[in-house]
Amino acid sequence: MNILEAYATFFEAKIEGRYVTLEHLSPLLKVYKNMFQISEIGTSELGQKIPMLKMGQGEKTVLGWSQMHGNEATTTKAIFDFLKLIAEQKIYKKEISEFLKTYTFYIIPILNPDGAAKYTRENANGIDLNRDAQDQTQSESRVLAKVFRDLQPDLCLNLHDQRTIYGFKNGKPATVSFLSPAADTKRSLTPSRKIAIQHIETMVGVLQGLIPGQIGRYDDAFNANCVGDSFQMAGVPTILFEAGHFPDDYQREETRKYICSALITLFGIVKPSATTSILYAKISENKKNFKDLLIRNVSIPGIFRLKTVAFQYIEVLEGSHIVFQLHVDEIGDLTSCFGHQELDVSGAEILVNSQQNYQVGEKVLKIVSKKDDSLLFIKEDKFL
Ligand SMILES: [Zn+2]
Repeated sequence: MNILEAYATFFEAKIEGRYVTLEHLSPLLKVYKNMFQISEIGTSELGQKIPMLKMGQGEKTVLGWSQMHGNEATTTKAIFDFLKLIAEQKIYKKEISEFLKTYTFYIIPILNPDGAAKYTRENANGIDLNRDAQDQTQSESRVLAKVFRDLQPDLCLNLHDQRTIYGFKNGKPATVSFLSPAADTKRSLTPSRKIAIQHIETMVGVLQGLIPGQIGRYDDAFNANCVGDSFQMAGVPTILFEAGHFPDDYQREETRKYICSALITLFGIVKPSATTSILYAKISENKKNFKDLLIRNVSIPGIFRLKTVAFQYIEVLEGSHIVFQLHVDEIGDLTSCFGHQELDVSGAEILVNSQQNYQVGEKVLKIVSKKDDSLLFIKEDKFL
């Protein structure tokens, strides 16, 4: 059985989509109370209780946290897949027992429950917790710092989502990206960075068999205000995970599989074959070279050369759903840019919302080719 067939046996169907809040997780946490040790490690700025789960009794202490950015829930979904695997043990029984003997894994599934409820990156006070590592002005930052001090972990997992704009020169999107953050401005290869790099190489060894050409490495510019950099400065190996776009998977139900596959690889539950190893430096660097929709060879009144018009979705919380609202993002040559969806109108004009003139930043409800009135895009009342 390959890893994705195995994954189907522990996929957690109770959480899905982009909008995942503490309220969604609470029923599952209640179920897991009997299997894992669950504690409340503090409260958010709005007084929501921040839970942490503990599993295993091994000597190696690993601390992971997800949804430090409230609107980044893919890794949270992957964690609940991982919890289901460990709780049910339908598969990999021997490997799981070995994992539980080797590791003590502490996991904070939702560090920023207020931001998650509002579907914002920032917390309730509009602060980016991943820029608050030094000042610790926010209660969520202090909660994480205290857990870090108390547990003195051997390894930290900083779990995030990245936007659809990231991809590679090969024309593929960055479905999963990693970083071993720098510990100083010189980006020295400190012992803790090296350990994080080794773990990343192991995970990429398995992932590249699943999503070849879609795995990236983040730029390692140093910023002490970022949590990963500050933990790495303290000498604790820290890995940044970034769950990104997979073709046609705006709900990130596909990407969660690969994040979960990375986790089970990291903990030795599955092992990469020797032939698939890859050096960290050889992992492609993430580039900002993707847009959600590109329309090529568009004629624009008053402009001689044909242009490309780029569109991006902005995610908007409406009630309890995330709506993907298309906007005009850029008009230009965009020759080195790729679209998750690309259309070519071969020199025709386009009408955006029935208008010949459209501006960057404009909300898009409808796009029509002026040449033959064909419909290129329409906003539908469905969730992507
Ligand atoms: Zn993030």
